[in-house]
Amino acid sequence: MAYSVKEIFPTLQGEGIQSGRKAVFLRFSGCNLWSGREQDRDSAVCVFCDTDFVDGDRYDDAHSLALAVERCWSGTGQKWVVVTGGEPALQLDSDLIAHLHDLGFLVAIETNGTKSLPAGIDWVCVSPKADAALAVTQGDELKLVFPQTLAPPERFQALAFHHFLLQPMDGPELTRNTTLAADYCLAHPQWRLSLQMHKMAGLP
Ligand code: SF4
Repeated sequence: MAYSVKEIFPTLQGEGIQSGRKAVFLRFSGCNLWSGREQDRDSAVCVFCDTDFVDGDRYDDAHSLALAVERCWSGTGQKWVVVTGGEPALQLDSDLIAHLHDLGFLVAIETNGTKSLPAGIDWVCVSPKADAALAVTQGDELKLVFPQTLAPPERFQALAFHHFLLQPMDGPELTRNTTLAADYCLAHPQWRLSLQMHKMAGLP
């Protein structure tokens, strides 16, 4: 299978329970909740995306893509790749997971949860968007951008995730949203606050 990839880069993970961890990010092109083009934003299911996932490079097979990921890892430590997008579940398959495992990587995914996942992923993070129905209702962490009128935390609190995180929505209301998210976590300790550390640290 061929893959469409926006970018691959080394960094520290910036969000969620694994925040601060050395990682390679594999960002796939394309998403099922927005085209990525500004003229379509108002009619999209997900309207607050701040990621460029349009176009990118083509990899003809899982082997060449896994090798490209490995070239971004330097030094020692457990190899950790975060598969993101766009919506990575549109392209991640068992073949690529197997090749990444063969190279010694643990495979984490950041998904909007609307597409079922292949087996073998080592860390599943679901970030629900608006009223998009979830196909993935269990995993390691549920990380909710907050506030979203159509996605209140109460809708997800009974799902089978190990960790529940609220992440203030970025943009002109970030300060207000951070206060709202912090207040919610104080009142509902099932939830933890997740800040976008990579932005504070100037990382990609
Ligand atoms: S689901 Fe994720 S990648 Fe897709 S438009 Fe929303 S924030 Fe962007």
